[in-house]
Amino acid sequence: MTDVDVPESHPRYESLLLRHRIEAGVEKGITSRQGLIAQGRGEAFDYLLGERTIPSADAAARAAAAHLLRADRAVLSVNGNVAALAPGETVELAAATGADVEVNLFNRTEERMERIAAHLREHGAEEVLGLAGDGRIPGLDHERATVDADGIGSADVVLVPLEDGDRAEALAATGKTEIVVDLNPLSRSARTASVPVVDNIVRALPNVTDHARELAGADEAELDAIVEAFDPEEALSAAERAIRTTDEERDR
Ligand code: ATP
Repeated sequence: MTDVDVPESHPRYESLLLRHRIEAGVEKGITSRQGLIAQGRGEAFDYLLGERTIPSADAAARAAAAHLLRADRAVLSVNGNVAALAPGETVELAAATGADVEVNLFNRTEERMERIAAHLREHGAEEVLGLAGDGRIPGLDHERATVDADGIGSADVVLVPLEDGDRAEALAATGKTEIVVDLNPLSRSARTASVPVVDNIVRALPNVTDHARELAGADEAELDAIVEAFDPEEALSAAERAIRTTDEERDR
């Protein structure tokens, strides 16, 4: 047993552990109640994907690492679910790629912004952006558009995990390279991303970090080749195929 009252031998242990983290996030005031619904939706897709990193998601994670490493200014966006599920993993990815971390909420309240920033600092973040809120993503109403001008506002590469479809579309329309982590290959967020990583955030972030560490010494040409070789449409189709494939078919 760990912090959650479920034996590790339980067949749904991992999934129950993540549910518990989201519940704890709501109790601490860092995750919104809508976050519980988003988690449920993600869980269903993870179940269908076999709760594993499929090969196309691994290729996407590598392309994401290459984008982050060659960026002029990269920002990792953190919402209430990401803060509850993978705060340490976010901080590690930022360190491995030189990216900044910015709190970016769909339902923005100063209190929740502060709590998430404090939670990230407890997990090792030195600087957390988002509280200034002095920038705007064009095409969204005031509340939903708020970002930091020297964070997401001026970034050329942005990683937005578990993002709302409208905001993902508006961000992509600004011409930034958008990396999305989303378990649903049919979601608008995944479909508008330059790099959709169809994987659970708790597996995807450490995987991008591993690729970034491995590519740390790579030259520009190698990073460019990885970025060029990645095809988002193909990655989404591969994820859909994985969802539609039964275990028996997989073993054939
Ligand atoms: P759309 O992008 O189609 O408009 P939406 O904005 O309604 O969808 P939300 O419910 O706001 O989607 O966002 C939650 C998304 O995050 C869902 O697509 C869900 O599959 C995904 N998701 C939830 N939990 C996780 C997780 N742990 N890891 C990765 N993705 C997740």
